[in-house]
Amino acid sequence: AERPYIVGNWKMNGTRAMLPEARAIDRAAQRNMKVEVAIAPPFTLIHAVHREAEQIGVGAQDCSCDPDGAHTGDISAAMVADSGAKFVILGHSERRSAHGETDSLIASKVRSALDAGLRIILCCGESEATRDAGEAENFVLDQLRSSLPDTDNAAEKVTVAYEPIWAIGTGKTAGLEDISAMHGAIRALLVETYGEEAGTAVRILYGGSVKPENAREILALSDVDGALVGGASLSAESFLGIAVAA
Ligand code: 13P
Repeated sequence: AERPYIVGNWKMNGTRAMLPEARAIDRAAQRNMKVEVAIAPPFTLIHAVHREAEQIGVGAQDCSCDPDGAHTGDISAAMVADSGAKFVILGHSERRSAHGETDSLIASKVRSALDAGLRIILCCGESEATRDAGEAENFVLDQLRSSLPDTDNAAEKVTVAYEPIWAIGTGKTAGLEDISAMHGAIRALLVETYGEEAGTAVRILYGGSVKPENAREILALSDVDGALVGGASLSAESFLGIAVAA
């Protein structure tokens, strides 16, 4: 894609003391229009980051599949949108493993998010055992087949993030050839689902131990349209180092 998309997933990190980092990222993003930059802070900071950082996109890391009601502790997609978020990350492997999220739950969260006018970053990725068994591609494509939205114009709202579980927070990145092959397979599925033009326009991000030092070679791969960054998004310096490499 012409304009790389670099998204920081702060996970369960960040209090108001992190707002200066968001401001620094925002100021740099205003100077470097070649890259689209976004942050997904915890729910508690969405509104503040949205107010402080005008140039960057702000998103959430999850939302409920339900619109409202007796769901103590949950946050609906409409609430996420109301707080200033423009997108929501769905299907992250940490939510699948720690909260038992299934493909069908994720599909229903996808529908709720789109109904609320949010864009989505839909995550997929295999475990090390699945990769060792030679099943990585089938597994990832199955995850996507069961949760990609198929309504009219849905493709415009979707970004896919490929995050091999064994590369998240481990310092291990997938091999460049493996990343290329997986992104190519995801692209083929997107074209099959949405048609040539819309399917080609969907951005596919890579995630898993992306750092300033390895960002350039990963982001140069075909069908890698950006990165979903965890640990290295927590300081403006390292996050911007990745954005500059894009
Ligand atoms: P790390 O960049 O810390 O490996 O996390 C990746 C990730 O899970 C982003 O969603």
